[in-house]
Amino acid sequence: MSRKYIIAGNWKMNKTVSESVVLAGEIVSKAKEIKNTEVVIAPTYLAAAKVADVIKGSNVKLALQDIHWKDQGAFTGKVSVDMAKEIGAEYIIIGHSEQRQFFHETDETVNLKVKKTLSAGLKPIICVGETLEERNGGKLESVLSAQVEGAYKDVSKEDALKTVIAYEPVWAIGTGVVATDAQAQDTQKFVRSVVSRIYGAEVAESVQIQYGGSMKPDNAAGLLAQKDIDGGLIGGAALKSDQFFSIFSAAEKLG
Ligand code: PEP
Repeated sequence: MSRKYIIAGNWKMNKTVSESVVLAGEIVSKAKEIKNTEVVIAPTYLAAAKVADVIKGSNVKLALQDIHWKDQGAFTGKVSVDMAKEIGAEYIIIGHSEQRQFFHETDETVNLKVKKTLSAGLKPIICVGETLEERNGGKLESVLSAQVEGAYKDVSKEDALKTVIAYEPVWAIGTGVVATDAQAQDTQKFVRSVVSRIYGAEVAESVQIQYGGSMKPDNAAGLLAQKDIDGGLIGGAALKSDQFFSIFSAAEKLG
C-alpha cells in the first residue's frame, strides 16, 4: 500500500501572532506546487485562528499542539477539540515528549486525547519515543510497545486508520543529534509491527509513521527514503520557511 508523505511543523512556544501570520503566508506560497504531500503546521493556540485564516483555501493544513479530553469547563489553560474544529484544525499533536516530560502526560492521558480527537472527526498525530537511557538499557521495544498499545486502547480499527504516528527518539529532539537512516527505519518498522499486532497488517500498512528529531534539509531525503518513514514532525527547521520548504519538497520528490 502506498502511503502519502505527511510533513508537519511543530512551532512549539515560538512566534508571536504577527510572526506566525508571516511564516504561515510564506509556507502557503512555497507549498503552492505541492500535490502529493500533506503539509501541516501547528502554531501556538494564540496564533491558530489567525493562521487558519491565512491558510484557508491553500494546501497547508492546521494542527494544534495539544487538546484536553473534556468538552469544556474548569480546566485552566486548556482548549477543547470542538474549539480546534471550529477554527478548521484537522490534526492534533498528542503525547509529544515535551508534554510527557514537563506536563505530566501519560499513556492514559494520551489515550483519552486520541479518543476525543477521533470522536470529533479530527486526526491525532500520536508521538512516541524512547530516551537514550531506555535505548541503551535495552528497553527500546518495551517502551515503544507500551506507548503504542496505551495510545490505541479501545480505539476501533476504523478509527485507527485515521491516525498518524510520530516516532520521535527523545534524544534526537532539539539536540541536533539525528537518528541514522537505519536506526530510524529499524525502529519505525518495529512501531509498525506493534500496530500490526493490534490491528493486523492492513491497518499497519496504511498508518503513516513520521520520524521526528532534528530532521533538517540536509538529512531529510535520506530519512524519508526509508520504507517505513512516511514523513516528518519537524521542530526547529519548521520555523524557517526555506528550511521547511526543503523538507516538504524532498518528500514531494520521493512521493
Ligand atoms: C519536535 O519537537 O517534534 C522535533 C522533532 O523537534 P526538532 O526538529 O527541533 O528536533
